[in-house]
Amino acid sequence: MGSVASRTSASKGTARRLLAFVVPYWWIYLGLGILILLDIGLDLLFAWFLERVTDAAVAGNAAEVWRMLGIGIGALLAIVVVRYLRAYSVSVASSWVKRDIRNALMQHVLRLPTSSFEARHSGDLVSRFSNDMNALEGAVGRTVLQLVSGPLAALAASIYLLRLNWQLAILCLLLGPLILLQGAVFGRALRTNSQRLQSLLGTVNAFLTEVFGGHVVIKAFAMERGIFHRYTRDNDDLSALEVRNGRLRAGLSAVTYALALLMFLLALGVGAVYVTNGLITVGGLIAFVNLLNRVVAPFGDLAHIWGSFQKSLAAADRVFQILDEPVELQELPVPQPAGRALEKGLTLERLTFSYDGGRNVLDGIDLHIPAGKITAIVGPSGAGKSTLFKLILGLYKPSSGSIRFDGVEIAAMAPSELRSLIAFVPQDPVLFQGTVFENIAYGRPGASREDVIRAARLANAHDFIAELPQGYYTEIGERGTRLSGGQKQRIAIARSILKDAPILLLDEATSALDSQSEAAVQSALDRLMVGRTTLVIAHRLSTVHNADFIVVLDEGKVVETGTHASLMATGGLYSELYELQFRPVAT
Ligand code: ATP
Repeated sequence: MGSVASRTSASKGTARRLLAFVVPYWWIYLGLGILILLDIGLDLLFAWFLERVTDAAVAGNAAEVWRMLGIGIGALLAIVVVRYLRAYSVSVASSWVKRDIRNALMQHVLRLPTSSFEARHSGDLVSRFSNDMNALEGAVGRTVLQLVSGPLAALAASIYLLRLNWQLAILCLLLGPLILLQGAVFGRALRTNSQRLQSLLGTVNAFLTEVFGGHVVIKAFAMERGIFHRYTRDNDDLSALEVRNGRLRAGLSAVTYALALLMFLLALGVGAVYVTNGLITVGGLIAFVNLLNRVVAPFGDLAHIWGSFQKSLAAADRVFQILDEPVELQELPVPQPAGRALEKGLTLERLTFSYDGGRNVLDGIDLHIPAGKITAIVGPSGAGKSTLFKLILGLYKPSSGSIRFDGVEIAAMAPSELRSLIAFVPQDPVLFQGTVFENIAYGRPGASREDVIRAARLANAHDFIAELPQGYYTEIGERGTRLSGGQKQRIAIARSILKDAPILLLDEATSALDSQSEAAVQSALDRLMVGRTTLVIAHRLSTVHNADFIVVLDEGKVVETGTHASLMATGGLYSELYELQFRPVAT
């Protein structure tokens, strides 16, 4: 009971929140309301026309027949226009409302903290943007309209039927509950089946994303048969659910049709007797039979439409769940020009951090990172190196302790100010849809062509970019797949060079490049590091050799600091790691 009650109130809340997006377009919805009333009125007018034209014909009144035909044709034309306007306006209204919700969603998602992204599968967010956004359409468009117009039309038609002949109307309307009941039974079964179908579709979509993303691994491990087998199994299930859906729909329409037919026969049979008794005219009976359909159809569909409406609300709920997540930024940040160079450096004081409030991933780190120097961070996997970067970038707040840039605590800085001080080069370069030029220019929006080319030259990227089909204006494929690993890294480096921030956070790539590409990337990085306060998660031998200062992290603690030579001399964790990770292999 409780869960039903809370679901209803959640639905109410959701409906109210949807209403907030609908209100700006109240005039279209008002227009739609008027169109619905017109539609109903015209239907009744048409029934009236049938009654009058038939009666006039039976009475042999040719003039009246002609007059009525004029009205009938007029009514038909008006119905066509109204139906067109109604279908068109509802598409416009729902697409505008959806556009506004999508914009609100995107604006919200872009302001969410890193923790929100790391807590969920990226596919989940994408599916809320696409599947759920599509599914919620019903709640602001066609479905909700049917929910209003169907019963209204049925009510208006029932009143007209009662007016035509109340005994006959009551006799027919007694079948109404039966129609409602079968609609409810089929509607419930259809809803459960559709939910299963939707959820399986979601699983299959996620599976497909993995398959296409991991095609190299699939080939390398000859996983094709297994993947195909799994796909065919899901596909069979999908098809079975679709067939069941089809069967239910067919059942619903057949039973609705049978009941409608029954009503029709009843009306015609009893009505014919009434005609002979003079209780109803021939025209009245024809109008009656015609209008009956206006009662049967909406009631037969009502349960199903109600189910669709609930499904749309559930989808809207999933969208609003994202909108309810607390944001990190009050508004979308404006990129700021790079901050000035550091004078003293970065100071970490008793820095402690835990993701879940339990285990400390960083534990009481005290560290001074000197300005203008290269500091290498090394440590075993899971030591907390990447987490340290996330804290310096302000993506997570320390549980305790502080991070200061030249004595200013980063907690006191606006995120955009903090990030204007930092250029971040991740392990796996991230490129976005768009041209090579745009991808580099993200480093400094508004950068001139000369600036972008200069940065690309410094990043050893200019030559290969110039050889691309459209040079700097070549479109990069999804995740930059048309470029080699080393080329992508050099574009990412060019972006950071263009940003020209005083602090460089560099997470070196672990994947090996061929020696020529490696040399190009390395010299690009060397240029990028010049004059900056650099903190690098080191994976390369040359980096630890060239670093001014090395910090060894283990289980969230700084266990050693020093230069390569001094740390090797100590013979501690660093020298062990060095043997394992960095030592050049003798050939
Ligand atoms: P590697 O060299 O393997 O990349 P690392 O030193 O960079 O490792 P981190 O990625 O900082 O290590 O992870 C430190 C610890 O924090 C690990 O135990 C990891 O499981 C945990 N961790 C990392 N990210 C999260 C997260 N988003 N939520 C919860 N725990 C996390």
